Amino acid sequence: MGLNDSITVKALGILNAYGSFRSTYNFLKDSQHWTADELEKYQLERLNDLLEHSYENVPYYRQVFEKRDLKPSDIYDFDSLSLLPLLTKDIIKNHFKDLKATNFPENKLEHVTTGGSTGDPMGFYYEKGVSRAQEWAFIKTLWDRVGYRFRDKCAILRGNVVKDAENGRLWEKTFFNRWLILSTYHMTDENLERYVEKIRKFDPKFIQAYPSNITILAKYMEKNGLDPFKNLKAVLCGSENIYPWQKELVERVLNCRVYSWYGHSERTILAGECELSSNYHIFPEYGIFELIDDKGNVTSDDKGIIVSTSLTNYAMPFIRYKTDDIGIISTEKCACGRNYPLFKTIEGRLQEYILTKNRNLVSLTALIFSQHFESFSLIKEMQIVQKEPGKIVIKIIPETGYSPENEEEILYKLTNVVADDLEVSFEYVDQIARTKSGKHKFLIQELELNNIG
Ligand SMILES: [Zn+2]
Repeated sequence: MGLNDSITVKALGILNAYGSFRSTYNFLKDSQHWTADELEKYQLERLNDLLEHSYENVPYYRQVFEKRDLKPSDIYDFDSLSLLPLLTKDIIKNHFKDLKATNFPENKLEHVTTGGSTGDPMGFYYEKGVSRAQEWAFIKTLWDRVGYRFRDKCAILRGNVVKDAENGRLWEKTFFNRWLILSTYHMTDENLERYVEKIRKFDPKFIQAYPSNITILAKYMEKNGLDPFKNLKAVLCGSENIYPWQKELVERVLNCRVYSWYGHSERTILAGECELSSNYHIFPEYGIFELIDDKGNVTSDDKGIIVSTSLTNYAMPFIRYKTDDIGIISTEKCACGRNYPLFKTIEGRLQEYILTKNRNLVSLTALIFSQHFESFSLIKEMQIVQKEPGKIVIKIIPETGYSPENEEEILYKLTNVVADDLEVSFEYVDQIARTKSGKHKFLIQELELNNIG
């Protein structure tokens, strides 16, 4: 291939991606006003297309249908969808090749891996040039709700690696100088003063952040009595669970809205807050979600494990994909008028539970984050490690002023929830390691909890 050819291919790729972005974005502008019936009709049509495609082109699904003596036409509503089995991470690992659509040439596939909650990587495919563009259209649609425009200045505190950080340059600008990317691997007290100054000078309208990173910044600003950033409209938070105490802290210190959404790189479900409410509005255009109980059956409870079918990825269809997340739905209708189903809370990933001596699962939310701890203001960072049932270690980076009474308070509050069903010990450290993608994990759960019923 000559140079001109490759430039043409690249240009076509960009055009293609732009086309995918534009068409998805315009579609969502319209579909958000649809009635519940219109949305349902759309979902069932897309589901039908996806099932036909999977039956014709995806060897794993052909075999799933044949084994059950089913044809795509046997699945015609949301109830009959449960005739198909759940798709688990193990199935994806074991049937990786057979899950790939045979009518996609290699150059139309983009290989992606996710660390997964247990740190065990799982690979799958996006449609090259299309999947990411579509995703961006959905995300832009979410951010539109808090007034984000492409020309707005944005500071970024996610997991990006800043090239020169090792030489002391802890930030860099990209996207026509509109994005200021700050290294989140160097957020020590000594550096944070410079971070705050730099952000203040940059004067962003938005901050994109992992909740854990913006929490560190907000805690530092509160401790030092620093003013919020003048023109900041919202903090856009994704990729990690955000806990109510984090949201409250950041909104108070930065004096702006914290706007968050829920999704994952497997891209079967996406949900975000709206202009008026902090319930997560689930995009019906993105996927079909179900809630299942711990036996794997569809539940009519408002709480369950989230299972979802992607309506957008044909390169590697994810049908009834079992996430590790637990969601609580709300039956309220939102005043914004969208007929989207709502999650009140995403209660935490299954791997974010603690297993007690009596083998009860307790969520981090129930154990810690729904309680008010005086001591939190004296803790810089914290992490819980569970290696065996009934025991946890709490690692703490203390602030000046932290004392044995704080440890007592924590212990007392935990005992409120679990009585003597959990043994707790403390470890005081200078540093808490991040994951490869720079995320902070509140819990290192080394037990495999996904199979505990
Ligand atoms: Zn709403």
